[in-house]
Amino acid sequence: MPKIANQDLTTVQQGQFVTGKNATMQSDAVKKFMKSMEEVLTVQELGQNQNQNVHPPTQVSIGSMDNALNCFMDNYVLLRKTEVNGISGHICDNCLSFQFQYIKEIGLDLTAGEKHQCLASMVNEANSLQYKTIKEDDIRIKAYEFLVILANSIFMGKQHLVVNSKLSTAHARSLHAPLIKFDSITPNDWPWMPITKETIALDDKGLKNYIGLMGASTYALILSERGAYFGYHLMYMEREAVNR
Ligand SMILES: [Zn+2]
Repeated sequence: MPKIANQDLTTVQQGQFVTGKNATMQSDAVKKFMKSMEEVLTVQELGQNQNQNVHPPTQVSIGSMDNALNCFMDNYVLLRKTEVNGISGHICDNCLSFQFQYIKEIGLDLTAGEKHQCLASMVNEANSLQYKTIKEDDIRIKAYEFLVILANSIFMGKQHLVVNSKLSTAHARSLHAPLIKFDSITPNDWPWMPITKETIALDDKGLKNYIGLMGASTYALILSERGAYFGYHLMYMEREAVNR
């Protein structure tokens, strides 16, 4: 992943930060912003890069509010949280990268997995690792943790896992979502409970659990090929409705 090239610039930025010139002027809102930038950076350190044509912000490039804002404006698009209805993540075991995508329309927007393309250089690098599976597990753990932070940030407050089992087969097949197939769904399979209940409240542990089960995403299409719950079930997390 590209690192910031200009060492002098880095030194100056860090110097400013250490003198406290900016630190003393930081309001809570600014601190919150800087914190969220750091969380974005944590994931970028995993090796994923949304746009290969821009230099992603790196830890060292953040140091002053100006830099943080410039980084932000250069690399991100502002979106209302209420416009985001899901998060799609993808962990590639071929190039060992993680990337995510904010989803506005579940089923219509392409998933992170569909958008992902392996970079040959990263595939080579991954294959040259002595402990590839350990590295993959490490990426997976960090990715799930990060997705929980993102989901909490997007859905704010209480979250639910909702299941729609009324989709027509044709409609379900046209959806862009991680597809998880079961021969049949029994009470021992994890989708049984959410499908039976249709809506379940999620705590942080449940959130992380289901993000992992749904393929690093806040939604998935579950297919049961036979049995009691034969057919397609669209499962997705949503924020608790304010007016209910
Ligand atoms: Zn890949």
